[in-house]
Order: sequence, then structure tokens, then C-alpha cells
Amino acid sequence: MGAFKDISIKSKLRVTTMLTVCAALLLACLAFLAYDLVVFRAAMKNDLMVLAEIISDNSTAALSFDDAKSGQQILEGLKAKVHITDAVIYRADGRVFAAFSRPDLQRDFHRPPLQLDGVTFTSEGVLLFHTITLDGQPIGAIYLESDLEEMHARTQKFVAITLAILLGSALLALLLASRLQRVVSVPILQLSETAQAVSAEKNYAVRAAKHSQDELGHLTDVFNEMLAQIQQHDLDLQRHREHLEEEVAARTAELLRLNDQLSQALGEAQAASRAKSDFLANMSHEIRTPMNGILGMTELALDTDLNAEQRDYLELVKSSADALLTIINDILDFSKIEAGKLELDLIEFNLRDNLDLTIKTLAVRAHQKGLELTCDIRPEVPEMIRGDPTRLRQIIVNLVGNAIKFTSHGEIVLRVDLESLLEDIARLHFEVADTGVGIPPDKRKLIFEAFTQADTSTTRKFGGTGLGLAISTQLVAMMHGKIWVESELGKGSVFHFSAPFSLVMTHVPLKLSESISLEGIVVLVVDDNATNRRILGDTLSRWLMKPALAEGGEQALELLHQARDNAQPFPLILTDAHMPGMDGFALAERIRQDPTLAGAMIMMLTSGGQRGDAARCRGLGVAAYLTKPIRQSELREAVLTALGHGPSPEVPSALVTRHSLREGHRALRVLLVEDNLVNQQLALRLLEKRGHAVVTANNGREALARLAETAFSGFHLVLMDLQMPEMDGFEATAAIRAREKSTGEHLWIIALTAHAIKGDEDRCRAAGMDDYISKPIHAQELFEVIERHRSEANTTSIEVAAGPSPRKRA
Ligand code: ADP
Repeated sequence: MGAFKDISIKSKLRVTTMLTVCAALLLACLAFLAYDLVVFRAAMKNDLMVLAEIISDNSTAALSFDDAKSGQQILEGLKAKVHITDAVIYRADGRVFAAFSRPDLQRDFHRPPLQLDGVTFTSEGVLLFHTITLDGQPIGAIYLESDLEEMHARTQKFVAITLAILLGSALLALLLASRLQRVVSVPILQLSETAQAVSAEKNYAVRAAKHSQDELGHLTDVFNEMLAQIQQHDLDLQRHREHLEEEVAARTAELLRLNDQLSQALGEAQAASRAKSDFLANMSHEIRTPMNGILGMTELALDTDLNAEQRDYLELVKSSADALLTIINDILDFSKIEAGKLELDLIEFNLRDNLDLTIKTLAVRAHQKGLELTCDIRPEVPEMIRGDPTRLRQIIVNLVGNAIKFTSHGEIVLRVDLESLLEDIARLHFEVADTGVGIPPDKRKLIFEAFTQADTSTTRKFGGTGLGLAISTQLVAMMHGKIWVESELGKGSVFHFSAPFSLVMTHVPLKLSESISLEGIVVLVVDDNATNRRILGDTLSRWLMKPALAEGGEQALELLHQARDNAQPFPLILTDAHMPGMDGFALAERIRQDPTLAGAMIMMLTSGGQRGDAARCRGLGVAAYLTKPIRQSELREAVLTALGHGPSPEVPSALVTRHSLREGHRALRVLLVEDNLVNQQLALRLLEKRGHAVVTANNGREALARLAETAFSGFHLVLMDLQMPEMDGFEATAAIRAREKSTGEHLWIIALTAHAIKGDEDRCRAAGMDDYISKPIHAQELFEVIERHRSEANTTSIEVAAGPSPRKRA
């Protein structure tokens, strides 16, 4: 069956037809054969019976007369009947009367016993018994046996004919099937061929030919219709594709055009951005230069003899100019941050020094309002860190500035502690706490946004642009830190910010003052302000001194008496000047009056110096008089000086003041290179007032000439403007550095720049400058930078060796 399935349709049709025809014919022939056999047997039986009748009639006489001979003769007559093989005549009693067997048969014949009349068919032949009667009386019987030769011959012939007919019919059927199967197979084969052609050539235009109206014709129609639909789809698809290509081409063209427009717009935007930053730089320069003049000259004017009214006016001018400068700086900073132009520095700096300096600049404002300003740096806070000192300072100035602004009485504390230390990253936590107006809860988030103030009406009372915290927030974010506030209305606010800084592991060389030990020296600290007491106590303990703390004059006197009685008197007393009840001066007076206490050195710390205070101190024999907040290094130096170790003023008995400490340092020879005459005069006067010797130059070329006159070694410091005619600051610096390559020396060069724009400091440092001051020049900033370089030079021990030798106080 499997093989049949796989043969071709033609063969299938042929085989089916032929098999059907042959099967039908065979069935018919078999039916005929069966019928013929039945009829033939009946005829045989009949013939045999007729023959038996005849023989029995003929043998009646012979039997009646018992004439066996005639009976034998009658049977011999059967020789003519070729199919009769045996014949027997029985007497009535069953004995054989006569018998006959065909002579050609080579077999023994056993006569069967007499039986009743009847015909029996066996496989060998046909047997017949017939009773012979005379006048109705049985007188004997006859037995006949015939072979089946005739029937076999007839059957054989029949089979032969049947086979011949079958063969003929099969041939005919094959012929007919071969012709007729085409009606079915041809359309199917054509359909198949068409499908193959379509699939191979993808030509949907071909159609199959229709041959009839039957199912195949219908199949052809459906097939053709299907092809028509595919063709249509194909056409549609092609049309769509063509359309798509056109569309893509159009879109690409559009995109290219847009791209062009965008690049053009980008170019314009970049140009605009460049123009904006240039504008910022220029504005900064243009505004700062006259501001420089105003501020500097006002400062100088304030140092001359003035009457009260003039002083008042000028101080107003100065504070207005300061305020204006702050606003300009805020706006510039904010635009820089907005324009993404602000980048943080990553330089090593001394955190304590940086914060001390910052606090000092703010202290004046705080003291003017009668506020205590203290700086509490926990001992575990690392000294040297890497970060942007300028921006850190800016944040502190903003937070502390706000605290001062919004506080009318009480104190402001800047606290720094170590939040965490992971490998070489220290996360520092800064906290500025005030006892001011506080911030309502709903404004605590808003104030960190630009141009927002907690209470718009405060603008009039307190002033401000609302930019400070926005800038601080951005700066803290750039430092990867966070800023937040806690506040209670009417009680005060605490601004926090924390940020990571990397530690600087390099060994920091000890400054001269740090190399002298203060270990074990007992000292009495007198201050009514608890924060101050703690800070002083901590600081002194860090130097391994042994501080005792007193809240006021009375307690101090008690402690002094106790110590004296224990024969361990205090060699040093650090007292605040302004305290309720007995103030610092009164305490000093009481001590001086008591001869048993007279040996102690008294150092007075004041937050708001008043005219005549210094004179009072001198009168009371106070060793030092210092304004708070005091830098640790300054305090240490003052303590050392008071105890007779440090560089001291020329007159041994003179009072140690911040001024005298500064004066204790050697004057410097400064080369001032600046083309703007106003600025030149301003810087010159400021430097000369400090006792420095200044030589001026109007441009880089002149500066090189001045340096060459002294073989490049006559100056300690160069203050170098950047933009100058003939030769600018960068070029001049490059020339100096090039020359130094052969001598191995290093001249300090500090840039003076009117630009406060990103990259300026980098450019300065890249050009070989050591530091950078932005104009307008503030006296304080200028001296701080100079002091910084002097102290750095000190650590390399050049200046100390050359400086005046420390004197012992009598
Ligand atoms: P400005 O001080 O120039 O107005 P800031 O951004 O520095 O701008 O501050 C925004 C506002 O936040 C201030 O106007 C004030 O209302 C509030 N604020 C800031 N610091 C304090 C503080 N220490 N105490 C009370 N309010 C404060």
C-alpha cells in the first residue's frame, strides 16, 4: 500500500481501473464456471439414469431366464460409452449376474454391495444404483460408475477461456485507462506544474488552463483566483516599496536639512555661549577694576586723619561697595554655575588654617553686632586635605554670613567634626549654629533654591539676593556632599553640610612655632562663653598644655589662689575681655594688685576691640591683647611670645598684639608689575604701609629688566598683573621660570587677575605662578596670601635663618 501511495497519479489511475476490471471479470467467470458445473453434473446424472433405464429394460429377459451370457453381452455394449468405467447387474438376491470394467483401466475393481437406488458423486466419479423390475416386481439391480474426465476437460477449457478473456479485457482496460486517466491527471499535473513555476520564478502572472467544469475545473478556478490575489498583493507591495523608497529619500533629505540647521544652531549656540562667557569675563573685569579703585582708595582714605563726619561717609561708601561686590560676585558665580563653567579645584590645603582665616574675616561683622563667633574644629578632624579651599570658604562665608545677618544677639558657632573615615576619604561634617530668628518649617526646603527668601519682608530688614544658599547648595553638590537645615522659629537655625575630602598623607613639616614644646605648662582660661572655653581648652590640650577653665573673674581668682596655695601657680592666664560682672580688665587689675599672683602672664582676648583698650592693657602689664577669633597658629605664637619663646617686637616690654606679631616678621622686597596706575598706587600703598619695600614695573618687559638689575635675587615676591601691554604676565612669568631652570631658585609669583572665570587659576598655575589674587585687591586677602607664602617659605627654613633672632622677655 505504501508503494502505491507514492506512484504517480497516472499509474494510480491505471492500476485502479485495471484492478477493478479484472476483479469484476474474474468474479463473473467464476460465477459462470460454478453454474456450468452444476448444470453439467445434472446432465451427467440424467444421462447415466437414462443409460441405466435402457440397460435394465434390455436385461429383464436375460434376468428372467437367468441368461448370464446375454446379460454380459448387454454390458459389453457399454464399451461405446467411453466414460463408463464399471457396470454390474445384480440378481434380486444381490449376487452378481454380469459385470463389466473398461478394459484400459489398470486397477482392481471391488464391486460394491447392492444398495438402494440413487446417484452419488465422489471425487473419483459418479456411482448409480437402479432396480430392474418386471411387471412391477424387482428382479435385480444395475450399478453404473462413470469417471469425471469429461467434466475435468470441460473445466480446464473453461479456465483457459476465462484467462484469455481476462487478459484481453485487462489489455483493453489498460488501453482505455491510459486514455481516460488523462481527463483527471492532466489538469492536476498542470496545476502542479503551474505552482512549481510560480514558486521558482515568482511570477504570479501565470495561470493554469481550465479543462472542464467539474471539481478539477473549480480547483483550477480557485487556484487562478488565488494567484490573481497574490499578484495584486505583490503589485501593491512593490508600489508600496517604491513609495517607501521615495518617502525614505524624502525623509533623509529632510533629516540632512535639519541636521545642517542643528549644526548651524549648535555653532551659533556655542558662539553665543562663548560670547556669554567672554561677556562675563569682560563684565567681571570692567566692574571689578573700578570697584578695586573705590574699595582700595576708600580703605586708604579711612587710614588718614578724618573728622567724624568724613569717616562716617567713607565707612558708608566702603560698606556699600563691599555689599555691591558681594552681589556682583554672587551673580557672577551663579551665572557660572548655570553655564556649567564652574569647576572645582583639587588642591591640598590646611583645613584649620583655611577655616581660621575665613572666620577671622567674618568676625569683624559679628563683633560689630555684639555676637560671639567661635570656631570649633574637633581634634580628630584631619589637618591637610585635598579639595577646593576657595569654594569651601565661600560656603562657610555664606552660612556664617547669613547666621550673622539673621541673629541679633547670642552666638554663632562653626563646628567641624569627622563624620566617617574610609581609607583615605574623610567625610567632614560642618555645622553653623546661630541663635537668630529661625526659619519657618514650610520655607526650610525653599530657601535652598535661587532667589528665594524665607520671608520676603526680611529683604528690607536684612537685605540679600537669595542667591547665597542656592550657590552653596550647588557647590556642595559638586563636592558630592549634602546640605540641610534644622531650625526653630525664634530660637535659631543650624545649617549642616557634609562632604567627602581625600586625606593628604604627606608629612607636613612643622612650622618654627610648632617645634617648641609647650608640654605640661599649666594655663588658666577665663571666659563666660562655654563654647569658647571648650575650644580654648581643647586647643591648649592639643598642645599638651594643662588648661584649667573658669567661667568668670571670681572663679578665676579662686583657682589662682588655690594654685598658689598648692605652690603650683599658673604661669599664664588667658582671659576674655568682655564678661558680665568682673570683666577681663577688672580681673587683670585684681591680679596685679595681689603681689602673690603677680608673676602670671596675662593674655587678653577680645571680640570687639575698643579704642584705648591697648593702652589699658599696657597699663595693667598685660602681655598680649588679641582679637577673636584667633587662629590656632597665631594663638600658639602669641603664647610662645608671652612665655618668652617667639619672635617678639623690637621693644622687649611691648605688648604682643596681632599687629606686633606680624611686625615681628621681616619686611619683604616686592616687585609689583601692574599697568593700571590706580591699581598700582593702591597695591603700592597697601604694601608700603605694611613695611614692605616695593619696586613697580608697568609691564612684563620692565619687570624682567628690574629683576635683571638685581640678578634675579633681589626680590622675595612678584605681584604680577596678567593683561598688560608689550609683555603680559604669562609671558613674563614664563621668562622668569625659564631662567630659574639654570639657577635652581624659585621666586614667588602671585598673579593679579581681574577675571574670576573658570580656568584662570589653572592657566596661572600652568604658566608657573604660585598663587592668584582676584581684583579688586582686598588688603586682607593680599596680606593673607603673602603671609601664606612667607609661612611656607618658613617651613623650608630659609626665612627663619635670615630673620631676627627671638628675644627673651625680661
Ligand atoms: P540671602 O541671604 O542673600 O537672602 P540666601 O540664599 O543666603 O540669600 O538665603 C535665603 C534665605 O534663607 C534668606 O533670605 C533667609 O530668609 C533664609 N536664611 C538663611 N540663613 C538663615 C539663618 N541663619 N537664619 C534665618 N534665616 C535664614
